[in-house]
Amino acid sequence: MAKKMCKKCKRLVTGDKCPICQSDKLNESWKGRVIVIDASRSEIAKKMKLDAAGEYALR
Ligand SMILES: [Zn+2]
Repeated sequence: MAKKMCKKCKRLVTGDKCPICQSDKLNESWKGRVIVIDASRSEIAKKMKLDAAGEYALR
């Protein structure tokens, strides 16, 4: 199953609903992804204002 991007928190999710913020506003047209392992030490996470580890989509 293709992963979709949650419009709210930008996480990549499988299924019809984001397990993190419970949003069902998902976008299938994302172009890349970032995996954040340690949000507090990641420059990309800071730029994207991500505060938790996880897999995120880039548009
Ligand atoms: Zn979400």
